[in-house]
Amino acid sequence: MPHAVGVLALQGSVQEHLAMLKRIENIAPRSVRTAEELKSVDALILPGGESTVIGKLLRTFGLMTILSNQISEGMPVWGTCAGTILLARKILGESPYLGAIDITVARNAYGTQSDSFRTTSRIAELSDHETELVFIRAPKIISCSAHVSVICSLGENPVAVRQNHILATTFHPELTNDLSFHSYFASMI
Ligand code: GLN
Repeated sequence: MPHAVGVLALQGSVQEHLAMLKRIENIAPRSVRTAEELKSVDALILPGGESTVIGKLLRTFGLMTILSNQISEGMPVWGTCAGTILLARKILGESPYLGAIDITVARNAYGTQSDSFRTTSRIAELSDHETELVFIRAPKIISCSAHVSVICSLGENPVAVRQNHILATTFHPELTNDLSFHSYFASMI
């Protein structure tokens, strides 16, 4: 049986994630908007977009508590950029949303849209080639607890981290052609 992997489809880079998931064997991609859809997936991606908007819609549609419970019960979840903000235990100057991964983030910490950038990094845990990293009004992970393992850093700041079944990246693998992160997430299911 293929694994049903959802992409939370309230706002943001939903289609891009779905297109990447379609390329991975044994994965059935699903867009998730309702409680029923949420309850039917084996794993979930929280896409990039605007965390305040996605957070508000999660509450409006009654999905926040269901999602929080699924994460507590061990459902693999991956946040990209805004999704990382939604998963963080602490957000500088703001109240957290899911509080699921033991990191503190600062929103928009690299500057405005015009300070968005691309770079590459060799991530041993993922692949033997350089992985392209796309940052768009990205948050910075300014601290993480000892329970969190750092998969990739840029300068002093972790940009990809994992705590058990929770993966968080401050960049957008779905906006590249590189399947490494999606395959890595699939291997967590
Ligand atoms: N700046 C956005 C936020 O704070 C995140 C940007 C993104 O997901 N590319 O929610």
